[in-house]
Amino acid sequence: MSVISSQQVDELKASLSTSALVLTPESEGYDEGIKRWASSAEKPAALAVFPTSAEDVSKILQFSTANSLDLAVCGGGHSTGGSSSTDGGISINLSKMRKCVVDVESKTVSIEGGALWKVVDEALGKHGLAAVGGTVNHTGVGGLTLGGGYGWLTPKYGLTIDNLLSVELVLATGEIVTASATQNTDLFWAARGAGSGFGVATNFVFQAHEQKNHVWGGMMLFPPSQLREVFEASNFLTESDKEGKSAHGVGFVSPPPTFDALVAVMVVYNGPEEDGRKFCEPLLSLKPLVEHTSSMPYEKVNGMVNDLMPFGLRRSMKGSACLFPISIPLAEEAFQDYLKFKTSVPDAAGTMVLFEPISPRKILEVPQTATAFANRGKYFNVLFSSTWTQKENDEVCREWGREMAKKMDEFLRKGMAAEGGSWGGDGVGQYANYDSFSEKGEVMFGVNFPRLKELKRRYDPGNVFGKGLNLLG
Ligand SMILES: Cc1cc2nc3c(=O)[nH]c(=O)nc-3n(C[C@H](O)[C@H](O)[C@H](O)COP(=O)(O)OP(=O)(O)OC[C@H]3O[C@@H](n4cnc5c(N)ncnc54)[C@H](O)[C@@H]3O)c2cc1C
Repeated sequence: MSVISSQQVDELKASLSTSALVLTPESEGYDEGIKRWASSAEKPAALAVFPTSAEDVSKILQFSTANSLDLAVCGGGHSTGGSSSTDGGISINLSKMRKCVVDVESKTVSIEGGALWKVVDEALGKHGLAAVGGTVNHTGVGGLTLGGGYGWLTPKYGLTIDNLLSVELVLATGEIVTASATQNTDLFWAARGAGSGFGVATNFVFQAHEQKNHVWGGMMLFPPSQLREVFEASNFLTESDKEGKSAHGVGFVSPPPTFDALVAVMVVYNGPEEDGRKFCEPLLSLKPLVEHTSSMPYEKVNGMVNDLMPFGLRRSMKGSACLFPISIPLAEEAFQDYLKFKTSVPDAAGTMVLFEPISPRKILEVPQTATAFANRGKYFNVLFSSTWTQKENDEVCREWGREMAKKMDEFLRKGMAAEGGSWGGDGVGQYANYDSFSEKGEVMFGVNFPRLKELKRRYDPGNVFGKGLNLLG
């Protein structure tokens, strides 16, 4: 890798628009430029560059390639695996590209590639509209969309990518293209699930949906002695919602100040409080220790737990999947494993496990091979999210997530084998956006991998966008 001279830095600056920024480690604002949600994912870039247009991005890519620099692209900065950071290379920070324009008539929204979901939720909320975005809305539209995207509205409208109408991409050559159902269709297919391996997405257009009514929901906490009843209630809710009006997550958390382990449920019901309470009666009748629920406009719902997920801690995420209904012995065993881990690594007290039994009905309306994303099946995601503070615990905390995901995966495969094909066929059983970047491309993309590999060779043979999964095979 070459070293960048100050003359080259000046040349890069001169080629960009005046509103763009190029920061070296000595510049004011550089530390903010390489900051990520997980402090363990931060790396010292040689240059942190803040473009303000697709043309700027194109110039930066050409500069990076000409100087054989490592390249990282940062949207919202939530990758815990470090895929949006570079050690000694050029970091494209898209935080100056967050414009969001709503077209009320067509109910569509056009969003720049560095936007956060909060911006989108608020812009759409003003018009009684909503998009399928992330449930913690300081996450980036970029990373979440390009890897698939699940949200509270997924039971009703599918994945984020199932609502994507077009994406503007700056390719490895610097060429700026639009990909949609009618333009650059190969790239549009690849962008929906494996997008970060194909270019820098500088703009997205999504279909939004009418969302005039308030929704009801929030968090409930229960003592571990009620684990069985809570998971039974969770299974009941999933089974009884035939219209996709609700979604919930159930798992284990250890909130401050005591950091005692509790069973948590986050629920959202798309309707009035009265109906939501009636629907959640199996949970509410268990008399949660804590109930933080309320009726709110949809634009608020994805901000409910933002403060519980702050920037600045060391973090890792690892995903797996689970068949419906959640096996109670499996949940009990996962809880015992969770307790053991917290005892053996007290620094990791803030760790969380989340079962996300989101109905896949709408997701399964799109065939597995219609998009590069290959995690469509009659199952749901499970997230192991370790949180800690000391660098010396990095490996043990990351390894715990990997081990737990492996265990969950073995259970999943056994269940799938027992059910024959009735679980849904060819889904890979793992969400790549839960930082599965150490996995092989074929594991994460299954039946779609051969086509993906071919497209990667065509559009990015030099693996300029190589920080995520290995798509070259
Ligand atoms: C607190 C938290 C809550 C989450 N909630 C959800 C959820 O509700 N639903 C869900 O589906 N996922 C969720 N996730 C997972 C989330 O989808 C991923 O972490 C995602 O990668 C975040 O995107 P980002 O832009 O913030 O991250 P970044 O770290 O900026 O990017 C992640 C990857 O995408 C690439 N990338 C980002 N933007 C662009 C772009 N514009 N063009 C090209 N490449 C780009 C980066 O290079 C990197 O490889 C959550 C994660 C966290 C940490």
